[in-house]
Amino acid sequence: MDFYPVAIERLIEEFAKLPGIGYKTAQRLTIHVLNLPGDQVREFAEALINAKGTIKYCSVCGNYTDTDPCAICRNPNRDKAVICVVEQPKDIIAMERIKEFNGMYHVLHGTISPMAGRGPEDIKLKELIRRVNGDLKEVIVATNPNIEGEATAMYISKILRPFGVKVTRIAHGIPMGGDLEYADEVTLAKALEGRTEL
Ligand code: ZN
Repeated sequence: MDFYPVAIERLIEEFAKLPGIGYKTAQRLTIHVLNLPGDQVREFAEALINAKGTIKYCSVCGNYTDTDPCAICRNPNRDKAVICVVEQPKDIIAMERIKEFNGMYHVLHGTISPMAGRGPEDIKLKELIRRVNGDLKEVIVATNPNIEGEATAMYISKILRPFGVKVTRIAHGIPMGGDLEYADEVTLAKALEGRTEL
């Protein structure tokens, strides 16, 4: 297809690489960018490069951060006795939005999925075990309520059992096959409140 000049075609291809963006949407975004004033395009490009250059993972919890440890891990007012385990950094944002949880977090950066060939060693489980100490009272597993999230929760419960830490699972409210990111605040608050021991 050489309907477009190479530079436009290349931009469409880059947009189309993004998750959830098909060729048609990529085309629309490209045209949108071309119609923006030059300084807005420059700001957009700079924001991309700046985010990539300054954001790293917190060495304690695995959240995105520009300081290490992250703001949550450094906060002396947060309860170090409880760790909420989530799949991705975006799930921390979802949990923080409900303002019900004042403990710490741990990001797994994925789930165990035999179907996709991902085992326990492919997610941040060693890092979680390393955080178990005498002060830790409870680990709340807030992985998504789908097959992979459940399998991961069961595995975490199993590996933490020898340490005598209480492992709970958020339960009610979030539908099976759902995604934490899209749960409304009431649903997520209910899910946290109705967590069960694993
Ligand atoms: Zn952190």
